[in-house]
Amino acid sequence: TKFGEFPLSAKTLKGLRECGYNKPTEIQKETIGLALQGKDILGAAQTGSGKTLAFLIPLLEKLFVKQWTRLDGLGALVITPTRELAYQIFETLRKVGEHHDFSAGLIIGGKDLKFERNRMDQCNIIICTPGRLLQHMDENPLFDCVNMQILVLDEADRCLDMGFQQTMNAVIANLPPKRQTLLFSATQTKSVKDLARLSLKDPSYISV
Ligand code: AMP
Repeated sequence: TKFGEFPLSAKTLKGLRECGYNKPTEIQKETIGLALQGKDILGAAQTGSGKTLAFLIPLLEKLFVKQWTRLDGLGALVITPTRELAYQIFETLRKVGEHHDFSAGLIIGGKDLKFERNRMDQCNIIICTPGRLLQHMDENPLFDCVNMQILVLDEADRCLDMGFQQTMNAVIANLPPKRQTLLFSATQTKSVKDLARLSLKDPSYISV
């Protein structure tokens, strides 16, 4: 299988090619088609499996290709446990999304809340750590997410292990119910299953 066998835009295929990605990994093969169809996904996958592109490719396509009008404001939120992971996702998005026209931001602390808040209002995609996102939601419970279409919960088991169960629940409760959710976790603990029940609708299960 090659990336070209999926119904992807020329812009995405060009970005992938320029990054040297030719063939999808197992998790990408399983996830991309279903996610493009709008399915919620519960993916059992480790770091190193290529799960980042498994969610970033459908996200780029759904937000910036398969739209009637240009996306206004926040379209997708990616929650990942650590700053380092957030940086890596951001960099991959920047490179693979090179030929798409959008803005993305990191909400991971290290900048003051007001600075981050301004960025949040201008971004189409936000990659964040759960603790920092909760701080924003506490400060400003009405932060604008009416156009939020896709939620990605990356390494959900690690977020939960770090004690962010309440945070994740609060975030999910604040987001529009009419959205697509992609949840990835290396392990399938009870708390991951609880989170999946709360956040996913009729999900497809993918295990690699
Ligand atoms: P991840 O599991 O998303 O952190 O990705 C692990 C590593 O695999 C990263 O260094 C990616 O650059 C690389 N990678 C992801 N997808 C592919 C692919 N389709 N072909 C080659 N390398 C890939």
